[in-house]
Amino acid sequence: MTDVTLVTGDGIGPEIAEATRRCVDAAGADINWNVARAGVDVMEELGTPLPDATVESIKKTGVALKAPITTPVGTGFRSINVHLRQSLDLYACLRPCKSYEGVRSRYTDIDLVVVRENTEDCYAGVEFQKGKDDTDELVNWINEHSEKKVRGNSGITIKPISVEATERIVGFAFDYARNMGRKKVTSVHKANIMKFSDGLWLEVSREVAKKYPDIEFEDRIVDNMCMQLIQKPELYDVLVLPNLYGDIISDLCAGLVGGLGVAPGANIGEKRAIFEATHGSAPKYKDQNKVNPTALILSGVLMLRHLGKMTEADKLEAAVAAVIAEGESVTYDMKPHRDDPTAVGTREMADAIIDKMK
Ligand code: NAD
Repeated sequence: MTDVTLVTGDGIGPEIAEATRRCVDAAGADINWNVARAGVDVMEELGTPLPDATVESIKKTGVALKAPITTPVGTGFRSINVHLRQSLDLYACLRPCKSYEGVRSRYTDIDLVVVRENTEDCYAGVEFQKGKDDTDELVNWINEHSEKKVRGNSGITIKPISVEATERIVGFAFDYARNMGRKKVTSVHKANIMKFSDGLWLEVSREVAKKYPDIEFEDRIVDNMCMQLIQKPELYDVLVLPNLYGDIISDLCAGLVGGLGVAPGANIGEKRAIFEATHGSAPKYKDQNKVNPTALILSGVLMLRHLGKMTEADKLEAAVAAVIAEGESVTYDMKPHRDDPTAVGTREMADAIIDKMK
């Protein structure tokens, strides 16, 4: 049996976590689930939205399937999700975006994987607020040392891009491509403008690519990448991006395949990995047995592949694809009209997926 931490989350989290757990079990994955809690519901009970026991469980099992968690307002946490990624050093965000027949979308044949760096760039949190003494000091220092001047009344966000973090994430993208039988990695940047941050990213990307002669490598400037993804997405395979562009392009690619309801994801580090849907906790639908469990179930498929359980992963993915393609036992958001009376609930959609695996 393989130990996996199941973080049930809050809002719609517990419902889709239960649906996913049943589907993963029915695929024959032989998982020993360590159930752990996190989120606003626990906060009232335990005084923290992220109990130590939950983090300890993930550290011990090394793999978690995590349902969404509401970002609590007015606690020490900016976001529990960001805190978890940082404290476990989950440096790679993986977002496969694949078309499934039956999902309403403008495109029908998308099969892209977005690999986003999770720890650096403008999202590193190194910021200086307008009007603070430190900020004035920084602005004065810049104006003394740089040919380009910064206005006094500025707020500043620093964009660090390091050799180490870039090597690590680009290497991750190539390893993933190789292990999953993919053909090409595209490194995305704006090196023509930001020569010392994105320029370094591109230089390191090229160096790393040399170690993978079996995988094609190319680079694209981020604005051109956006246009190309809309016009000819079939030309792309695995994309690797710094944090900020990765955030934006992941949502663009989720849009190509029909939106958040079907977008799985993972945050992966050297020793640990958390698999989770791209969408949030949708609190207004809590306890209504209404929302779509697909994104978390497909995150379970990614988890099974990460664990080397390829047969079980393929079986579960095929069952999800079949249920969506039939379009009968699916939740309201997958019907042609959102008030379609034939829509089923979260539990019933999971039941239909389980039936397909029998
Ligand atoms: P959300 O994704 O929770 O919901 C936005 C809307 O998308 C919902 O109202 C619903 O209409 C739809 N939706 C989302 N998931 C769905 C599903 N499975 N099936 C059908 N429809 C679905 O985004 P939000 O309202 O911006 O965020 C709510 C909370 O979730 C916030 O506190 C946010 O910080 C948090 N959040 C958590 C995560 C995470 O845990 N990884 C990710 C994103 C947002």
